[in-house]
Parts: sequence; C-alpha cells; structure tokens
Amino acid sequence: MSHHDVIVIGAGPAGLSAAACLAGMGLDVVCLDEQASVGGQIYRNINGASPDQRRLLGEDYTNGDDIARRFAASGAGYEPNATVWQVDPDGHICYSRDGQSRQVKANYIIAATGAMERPMPIPGWTLPGVMGAGAANNLAKEAGLTPDGRVVLAGSGPLLLLEASLLIRKKVNIRAILETTPPLPVPKAVVRAPEAALRADFLWKGLSLVREIKKAGIPHYKGVTEIKALGGDRVNRVEARCKEEVLSFDTDMLLLHFGVIPNTHIFRQAGCDMVWESGQRYWYPRCDAWGRTSCERIFAAGDGARVGGAPAARYKGELAALEAARCSGIIPEYERDRLAAPLLKAIRKDRWPRPFVDALYAPNPRQFVFDDDTVVCRCENLTVGHIRQMVKEGVKEVNEIKTISRAGMGPCQGRMCGPAVAEIVAAETGTCPDRAGLINIRPPLKPVPLAEVADMALDQGATADNWLLGKK
Ligand SMILES: Cc1cc2nc3c(=O)[nH]c(=O)nc-3n(C[C@H](O)[C@H](O)[C@H](O)COP(=O)(O)OP(=O)(O)OC[C@H]3O[C@@H](n4cnc5c(N)ncnc54)[C@H](O)[C@@H]3O)c2cc1C
Repeated sequence: MSHHDVIVIGAGPAGLSAAACLAGMGLDVVCLDEQASVGGQIYRNINGASPDQRRLLGEDYTNGDDIARRFAASGAGYEPNATVWQVDPDGHICYSRDGQSRQVKANYIIAATGAMERPMPIPGWTLPGVMGAGAANNLAKEAGLTPDGRVVLAGSGPLLLLEASLLIRKKVNIRAILETTPPLPVPKAVVRAPEAALRADFLWKGLSLVREIKKAGIPHYKGVTEIKALGGDRVNRVEARCKEEVLSFDTDMLLLHFGVIPNTHIFRQAGCDMVWESGQRYWYPRCDAWGRTSCERIFAAGDGARVGGAPAARYKGELAALEAARCSGIIPEYERDRLAAPLLKAIRKDRWPRPFVDALYAPNPRQFVFDDDTVVCRCENLTVGHIRQMVKEGVKEVNEIKTISRAGMGPCQGRMCGPAVAEIVAAETGTCPDRAGLINIRPPLKPVPLAEVADMALDQGATADNWLLGKK
C-alpha cells in the first residue's frame, strides 16, 4: 500500500491549486479524481476542449488554463478515473480505478470534492429529457454536446442563466426560461447590493447575461411556481404558474437548476462535524480558516467546504495546502502566514458580491412544497406521499426514515433524495430541515463491485474480514 504526505481528492480549481502548491514545496502528493481529466466542474475537460468549444464557453472557462498548466508542471501525482469510496479519519482511503480497488494512506487528506446541483423533486423530474442545467453544461464541456430540439430552462441561480446564454450562442431553440426567483430582488439582497457594486466586473457579467437573454427575445418569467414536466415515454410539455397565469410549453427537453450545494458525502462518512447553513439550506463541514475539519487529518477546500465559486475555491485550496505543509513540518507558522496573506486579501475581495448573490437566489421554503405523487427517492421509487405518511406515523428523523423505507440506501446514497426528505419532514412538523437530521453515510460512498473489494490489497497484517468489520 502506498503512503503519501498528502492525498488530494478532486481535481477542480481547489484540488489542483492545493496539489500544485504542495508539490512545489517538495511534498509527496497525489490527486485522485473520478473524472477522466483535470478541471472539476467549471473547467471540465480544459485540456481537451476544441477551439470551438473554448470560444463558446468563453473566458470563464479558459481562465482555467493557468491552473491546469501549473498543476501539470508541479510534479504532483495524478490519478484520473479514480473514484474514492471510503475515507477514514486515520488517513486511509479506498478508491476504484480501472476495475480495481486500492487502499492508500496519507498523513493528510485535502477533500476538494466540489458542489452538486440541488436535487429538487418536481412532478415528472424522472422522465427522460429532464436533466440538470449544470449537467447539460458539463456535456457541452466534456463532449461538445448540444440539446436537440426545443428546450425549456427552469429553476433559479446564476448557473441557469449561464446555461441559457450558452444555448443562445449555440442557437438552440429555447422555448422559455421559468425562474422561481422573485420578480424584484428581496430586501435582504437589496441591502447587500452596495457591497456587490464594489466588484463592477462581477455585476457587469450578471447584467450582460440578462441583456443577452432579453436580446434573444426568449419568453422569460420570474416568480414561477408549480413547475411540472409532462409526457409519456419522455417529456413533451412543461407547465407552471406565474401569478394567476398558467404557462404551458411544448418541449423536447427540460433543464432544471435550483442552485448548488456542497458535496459532503466524504466528510460525513469520515465523521467530520457538520454545520447547517440556514440561509442556503445546506450542510457543510465545520472547518477553521485553513480548512481543517474536526478530523485532524482531513481538510476541506473549495465548494465542498461551502459554496463560494471557482476563484475562492482556488485560494482556499492553496490555504489548506499551506497549513498541511506547516503540519508536515515543511514550513514554519510565520512562513505559512506570509504566503497566506495575499490569498486572504484576494478571498476578501472575491467575497464582496457573494452575500448579494446568495440573498438574491436564496432557496425559498415555499419551493419545497411537493405533490404526494412525486417520486422523491429515485433509487427506491418512493414518493413524497410515502415519506409524509411515515412522518404522520411519528417517524421524524431522516435515518429512521432511511431504515424503514430504504430512502438513501440506493446507489446514490441519498445524494438525490436526502435534502428533499429533510425538507418534507420539516414542512410536516413545522420545523427546520436540520432538526430532521442528516443521513448517515457508510462506505462505499459510490457503488463498487464486491469482487473489487474482495481482491483489494490491504494494509500489512489486515485481512478482508477484519477490514470489513472496521478493524484495520
Ligand atoms: C454541474 C455543475 C456545473 C458547474 N458549472 C459551472 C460553470 O460553468 N461556471 C461556474 O462559474 N461555476 C460552475 N459550477 C460551480 C463550480 O463547480 C464551482 O464554483 C467550482 O468548480 C468549484 O471548484 P472545486 O474545486 O471546489 O470543485 P469542483 O470543480 O466541483 O471539483 C471537484 C472534483 O472532485 C471530484 N470528486 C468528487 N467526489 C469524488 C470522489 N468520491 N472521488 C473522486 N473524485 C471526486 C469531481 O470529479 C470533481 O472533479 C458548476 C457546478 C456544478 C455542480
């Protein structure tokens, strides 16, 4: 079993900058990522995108060139197609690559696993032709794919508008944009606007997106509720309500997006303390300014620690690396602080527009009013009605719901249903979702064939039996 100074999980902006920084200081570091190439979500396939893709995706995308180059030149180890399925607080990691599972160890782990689109059960969301707007964006980066036929975009958040703008440039037939965001900014956003205005470049980008959509003449509604995907074998119509008006659009595809939430499975499985962010309605790992979690050997960096966008992810990856280097005895505290000073300054500047954007697109509890017949757990085919019935019978904690119903036990391990199940319990009991708890995560984090686990070479002295019993 190989042993490294640091293992970085995730090759997005946070993971790449952390690994490059550590390798630059001479540490033995390897970066594991389940994608086929570096870049994470925002810079996916940055080294392989065609000139046409790069032109269409624009500067936000090509800004990733320098970090990809810096990482490649740093000498850090890199394993693509490596899916981490277990992380232990003592530094052991199990991952699957090319049909083989391996166990490795590190003195420190920097988990930079990014964010995921907030899953939102709406009627018909399981129909073919309905997918995440971010997922569609990824397909454009990864394979240059463009949706065929008519498209409706629905939901809320900057990524929804970013995807609309990309589709406009690709001359896709967009039938409508249905935003659940209120028509006028909420007061909480208005009071944070002056701070955001300090970053004129950021506001300019947002306004340019809105102008581009307006110029394209696409019907654009705000304050939309009751979004439904309808169809037989696949989606063919989207219905919604905008105040008193009932909206209906024939379509071949519905792209949904309701913001992003940290991808926290690794932290939860390792046993890190978690914190509830009530404004954004998501959980994130408790960590200090350097990204140190409550597990001594595990750091969190980037959107997986708390959603902050790509530039912040990059700086925070580097901060975690500096502290890991200090803990490894490579640099003293004063040198860590000297190197961190410009990063902390850049983070403060980058944060100026964040409270405004967060308030503008904050999830509205009214969004989480679901129909009884809507499927909430896609793996086990459980409806909202099933969960409500359990709550009525007195089951009010998500892990009890998991045990009784198997919601969260399928291949997605609660990624798709977990947040919604907690929202349903909260709505039924008149409390907040954090009171409903957080689904416990057990290895494997992602599906892995049992044969791979049985064949895995383990730490010296360990046997498959005692490893499976947790006695490594
Ligand atoms: C679908 C999607 C699309 C997005 N597109 C954009 C965009 O176009 N523009 C924009 O400004 N922002 C975008 N964002 C937001 C953007 O992700 C972040 O701001 C930024 O990429 C965060 O960087 P990061 O390094 O923290 O994480 P990421 O860039 O998300 O990188 C995390 C990496 O961790 C890897 N990983 C996760 N779990 C495991 C595991 N168990 N084993 C191995 N590897 C793992 C992932 O494969 C990924 O490569 C998107 C978000 C999502 C969810």
